[in-house]
Amino acid sequence: MSIRRICKYGEKILEKKTRRVDFAKLKSELPVLIADMFETMDAVKGLGLSANQVGLNLRLAVVKIKRENDADLNLVLINPELVESSGTMYEEEGCLSFPGLFASIKRFSKVKVRALNERGLPIEINAEGLFARALQHELDHLDGIVFTSRLSFASRLKVKPALFRLKKQWKKIDESKISSRE
Ligand SMILES: [Zn+2]
Repeated sequence: MSIRRICKYGEKILEKKTRRVDFAKLKSELPVLIADMFETMDAVKGLGLSANQVGLNLRLAVVKIKRENDADLNLVLINPELVESSGTMYEEEGCLSFPGLFASIKRFSKVKVRALNERGLPIEINAEGLFARALQHELDHLDGIVFTSRLSFASRLKVKPALFRLKKQWKKIDESKISSRE
């Protein structure tokens, strides 16, 4: 297993709709890929990560479900689709591709998602609250939608200076990693 580099805002792959996973074809590669995605997400304490965030054009995401009196649950979503949604909620959201940026985003409060699990079996998930928000965030990633594009025009203007500053920082961090590897 290995930790993969997370693509940051501004990288084209984040704004492109991902390709559906041909499970039979990718079956042998998926276990390593999925393990890497969990390891990468855990390394930065994320709650979700899409394949395109680690540079892979695949409709695949992982989500961590936090449970109060129980261990966290790791969920794999292959070719997920939103099939039902209701209600509205506004909560502060962050994204591993936008380290340091948080903004209040409007989301459905309840969703139903269908996908395949890591074994290629169909699953149906009913979620609400934080879990529902994480699912919508990852589904958006897979459709090439970054969370800041869900902001109102006024809010987007407000986060623009912060985003500009952050982009410069990320660039420096990425560059220092590249030079330390050489
Ligand atoms: Zn994200």
